[in-house]
Amino acid sequence: MTDTQIPVESLPAESSAQAAAVPQERRVVTAIPGPKSQELHARRTAVVSSGVSSVLPVYIERANGAILVDVDGNRFLDFGAGIGVTTAGHTPANVVEAITGQARDVLHTLFTITPYEEYVRVAELLAEHTPGDFPKKTVLVNSGAEAVENGVKIARKHTGRRAVAVLDHAYHGRTNLTMAMNYKAMPYATGFGPLAGDVYHAPSSYPFRDGLSGEEAAERTIGYLEKVVGATDLACLVVEPIQGEGGFMVYADGFLPALQEWCTANGVVMIADEIQSGMARTGRYYAAEHFGWVPDLVLTAKGIAAGMPLAAVTGRAEIMDASQPGGLGGTFGGNPVACAAAVAVFEAIEQEDLLAEGRRIEATLTAGLDRLREKYDVIGDIRGRGAMIAIELVKPGTAETTKEPNPGAVSALVAHAAQQGVLFLSAGTWGNVLRFLPSLRMTDELIADALGVLDDAFATLA
Ligand SMILES: *Cc1c(COP(=O)(O)O)cnc(C)c1O
Repeated sequence: MTDTQIPVESLPAESSAQAAAVPQERRVVTAIPGPKSQELHARRTAVVSSGVSSVLPVYIERANGAILVDVDGNRFLDFGAGIGVTTAGHTPANVVEAITGQARDVLHTLFTITPYEEYVRVAELLAEHTPGDFPKKTVLVNSGAEAVENGVKIARKHTGRRAVAVLDHAYHGRTNLTMAMNYKAMPYATGFGPLAGDVYHAPSSYPFRDGLSGEEAAERTIGYLEKVVGATDLACLVVEPIQGEGGFMVYADGFLPALQEWCTANGVVMIADEIQSGMARTGRYYAAEHFGWVPDLVLTAKGIAAGMPLAAVTGRAEIMDASQPGGLGGTFGGNPVACAAAVAVFEAIEQEDLLAEGRRIEATLTAGLDRLREKYDVIGDIRGRGAMIAIELVKPGTAETTKEPNPGAVSALVAHAAQQGVLFLSAGTWGNVLRFLPSLRMTDELIADALGVLDDAFATLA
């Protein structure tokens, strides 16, 4: 990409300058949603399937850094980042320039007809930055779910086995195979069956609720895999190193390496679904690195291209090469513009030390949340890494005992914050987790501002 990049001076002044003009501060000037958003929402309701929902129906006109600007002129602190996609910030200047330049050069050829350099460069960068020091290869696709589907295909081809295992509380997507891999039926699978077969849900590790050590939890998981599935039929075990939709679950220490060791000993491909946790989200390139886990295959998507649709399966060359030529790929997979954006995201991570920004966000957020926990006993657990931090809320007075989930508090907090111009997302099997998933451009000042809003929101609960 680098030698085809359009020099900054030759870009129309608008493209980068306009985005940079968004002030990095919260501003609420109408009711939320405002009148223009309400008008758009009425149009949308007439023509967009109600199967597609929106957390907060404010219609966004512009975004930059850590801020979303809606059509009514309200500015939101974005603690969702499009679910961990705009990790390198909204409209980062170098990515916007790379996209613009690449769009002028070539929009599409189809890599499986006539290839181009940008695809190769992304594969090189993934080989370099995914965990593990061994020859690696990559296939590029369009979405996270497609990466999961391909990871499973590749593992089945390599092993000649049929069964797929996942963990309780997992989320892997909305396609036919992946909806069978999710923990929650509602809303992801209910009524959409028949589901894909040969998918097994193994017990996980949930330190806040099960109190098991990593070793004990791994023993329980492995016991299930051996008894219920049978190691010799198991093609792969797919695991999020930190569960995303499940509520930013950090497993007990030693859990992941113990599972990898068992998989390796039994010829099972262990796949890290790093779709939400990867690409510098957690202060490391990949969350698996925090836990001493070197997976066989790694799935990357969300944060890789700052919003352009791109996803990848990367892993051990001998596993990735088991598929026959023509068996992997697809029309849009590894689109040149999406690849150029990804190369620029990798550049931003390196040049602007975004890994350090993730660690800064973790320190600021967790310190602020610790203070809130002293005030509000509904905060049962604080967990996560980097810019992927969550609090699990329980009913008052139950944090030490039954830990009864408190989804009502989470929805009240989310609603209160939205009215004040802060976008928070919920998560968790019981909807009782509030997650903080900002871009790495979220400053300490903006975090303090958001935590002030959250403090007020907690106070109105009580
Ligand atoms: C979002 C997500 C997926 C699915 O990705 P899509 O791009 O929405 O298909 C899969 N796994 C995890 C962990 C995710 O967070």
